[in-house]
Amino acid sequence: MQLLRSLLLLVIPGTLFSAALYLHLKVDMPPAWQPLLPLFPYLAVFAGLSLGWRFNRTRVIWAVILLVIVERGLTQTTPFGREYLLQVAPLLVPLNLGLYSWWAERGLFTLHGLLRLVVLLVQLGGVVWLYFTRAGDVIAWLGRPLFSSPFLDQAPLSQITMLTMALGMVALLVRFYKKPEALEGSFCWVLVSVVAAFWWPEHFAFWGGVAVFLLTIAIIESSFKMAFNDELTGLPARRAMNELLLKVGRHYTFAMVDVDHFKKVNDVHGHDVGDQVLRMVATCLRRVTGGGRAYRYGGEEFAVIFPNKNLERALPHLEELRETIARAGFIIRGRKRPKNKPEKKGKNNSGKAKIQVTVSIGVATRNDRNSTSEQLIKAADQALYKAKKGGRNQVCTV
Ligand code: GH3
Ligand code: MG
Ligand code: MG
Repeated sequence: MQLLRSLLLLVIPGTLFSAALYLHLKVDMPPAWQPLLPLFPYLAVFAGLSLGWRFNRTRVIWAVILLVIVERGLTQTTPFGREYLLQVAPLLVPLNLGLYSWWAERGLFTLHGLLRLVVLLVQLGGVVWLYFTRAGDVIAWLGRPLFSSPFLDQAPLSQITMLTMALGMVALLVRFYKKPEALEGSFCWVLVSVVAAFWWPEHFAFWGGVAVFLLTIAIIESSFKMAFNDELTGLPARRAMNELLLKVGRHYTFAMVDVDHFKKVNDVHGHDVGDQVLRMVATCLRRVTGGGRAYRYGGEEFAVIFPNKNLERALPHLEELRETIARAGFIIRGRKRPKNKPEKKGKNNSGKAKIQVTVSIGVATRNDRNSTSEQLIKAADQALYKAKKGGRNQVCTV
């Protein structure tokens, strides 16, 4: 399931890339659209830089700067300079993209930002220096074949270049495997667009624009995820819950789930362990039966919505959920950092501790009295209060 979700992250940039390829290879653009095409790279660069800036995605900013430098270089130089750049740039761009995707985001005007600028300037200096001293040697060396293959000989890219691009792709794919997120996925397709840009250097601006466009879409996609998903537990967040409540219809049941004595878990075992417990409760909630959909409501409170289910039909699933959590007994490994003095000496110091975690659940179903979602949430809250007062670790209705 997780793998499928990760692969889906590659689908959006992949589809956009395919659309660009179709445009490039097949379509005779209607004449009215043609003047718009040269504007596309400028718009993409503007969107990439401004969103990268707003969302503090410095990798995107550096990738855009790199592509703009190469595009400007290719347009401004003499034919010989162009030939030189077409050997050197396809080697450096994939390496830099691989580097950017692995180098943690640490701001633009920071030591890390400065370091990236230095890395870029050193490369630029090297490229210019080699151009004025040994351009001919570089062209010959990079252009020489590694293997004799009629197929590879026909490609417009040298074998060394293709090898570097393949290495860059491996670095990006490994990164995506380790961190399956939108930006990581789009970096893989950015490299594919860069290959296309060097394959058809006369269309570099278009393909560079496609690469930057893919990064821009990835920023939007990842901010969407940030807004609708809870980072700690991975469950959908309250905003997503509100979206569902807008469209869930007239028949549904709402449950408010609250971890019992959670403050004590934090106090005795530390905040990190508290976070672990929240993650584990979230795992149980994600598996709730009966078509229930779980959300992190806030803090140690969760919500479960059962669309098209009345109270009687939802209650057994909530009872099962409560039991599953109570039975689980969470093992806390190896963190010896209680905030306060542990209640029982020795329990934490062994490196392992078993914590009994229970939840109280308040449930309400939509009816004439609770017709709006606000009223329903309030009713579920009152039921939760009843469950707490009644001794916790139970499911209550109003
Ligand atoms: P009750 O059984 O009545 O629900 O008691 P409780 O201790 O669970 O409830 P209370 O509202 O007193 O405490 C909730 C605590 O949850 C307080 C807050 O520090 C902690 N908390 C909220 N969000 C997080 C979080 O993301 N991580 C951790 N570790 N603690 C959190
Ligand atoms: Mg609470
Ligand atoms: Mg609580």
